[in-house]
Amino acid sequence: MARIFRARWVIPADGPVVDDGALVAEGGRIVRVGPWARLAAHVGAGDDTEHFPDAALVPAFVNAHTHLALSDMTGRFRPTVNFAAWIGRLTARLWMRSKGAAGRAVRRGVEESLAAGTIAAADLAHDPTFDIPPGESRGRWTIFRELFRFGAPGLARVQEAARALGRRRPASNIRLGLAPHAPYTAGVEVFMAARREADARGWPVSTHLHETQDEIAFTERGEGALCEWMRRLKILPADWRPTGRRPIAMLAEAGFFSGPVLVAHANYLTDEDIAVLARSGSSVAFCPRSHAFFKHAGHPWRRLLAAGVNVCLGTDSLASSPSLSVLDEARFLFAQGGAEPRVLLAMATRRGARAMGLQDETGGLRPGLAAEFCAVVPAGCAHEPLEAILAGECGPARLVRA
Ligand SMILES: [Zn+2]
Repeated sequence: MARIFRARWVIPADGPVVDDGALVAEGGRIVRVGPWARLAAHVGAGDDTEHFPDAALVPAFVNAHTHLALSDMTGRFRPTVNFAAWIGRLTARLWMRSKGAAGRAVRRGVEESLAAGTIAAADLAHDPTFDIPPGESRGRWTIFRELFRFGAPGLARVQEAARALGRRRPASNIRLGLAPHAPYTAGVEVFMAARREADARGWPVSTHLHETQDEIAFTERGEGALCEWMRRLKILPADWRPTGRRPIAMLAEAGFFSGPVLVAHANYLTDEDIAVLARSGSSVAFCPRSHAFFKHAGHPWRRLLAAGVNVCLGTDSLASSPSLSVLDEARFLFAQGGAEPRVLLAMATRRGARAMGLQDETGGLRPGLAAEFCAVVPAGCAHEPLEAILAGECGPARLVRA
């Protein structure tokens, strides 16, 4: 038996808006998409038809970068230019927090993500004792275990993390990955060990790169607020030296970009940095509202797209962003003007799926993909439904799965 979803509009991640369109699903997969007038002939007597007469169907959203374990941090921090002070205060709060609180925060983040129409997320999990529950069957989650430290202690953690992740009960909707946290918290040797362990298991790799100028000053010159923070914490080994290289160049020389990397932020990039990302088939998760929280200079997402880099959207955590809604991120960019609605929709859906290797599963409305989408009702009789949705002139995005 097929399931048919008919709506006033069907808006695929690529391709034109279909007026009075429909999706036909069989066994949870989309088998046909198109105008109702054409698909109605394929409807059998026993088929189940659901009609959304006022709604637009859009692909379910994909969050390419978040930290669900920080979902209890709403409103705890004010916007700031001082990233080093923020991460210091955040870390202090996390050290004081009970393990139970972290687990509850992850569950809250899962609920909030699904309620915002998000079907898949890349979750950077900083503690091995909590993450997405193995029994969580809704949504598609990629758990990237975050790795910290330099030298031998850092290398030992890579081995531990890979072994601990490998012992998880397998679940078809949960994928695993490794994420050296950032160049100022993890050594090049830790990045490379993570790359090797992930490659050996077919896992994706993620990290934070070029988020701040202080991060660049750390690897280039051994200077700046993040370097002082690391020295204060006595985390840097005695023989640690700056490399005279920006983080991306330093990691590229070491071989970290031998395959794709899901890079969060990438806020400050030279043409050479962009060339490394493009050549390696890497993706950049741009987090627009977190970017604004830290008052960064304009993000180079258009330059990245022009160079062929897969740019997608992430929410980052609730410690620097007001919600876990990817649609809200796209709206925030749309409100700044100059962004094509179609490009934003692709960044919020199809491109995020590609960043996580889920491009044959979700992120669009085309035959072969899972039949999962959001139904959104634009306000009034919208002539441009996608523009209305991005302008926020609509109801909530309701996640539907066949
Ligand atoms: Zn992050």
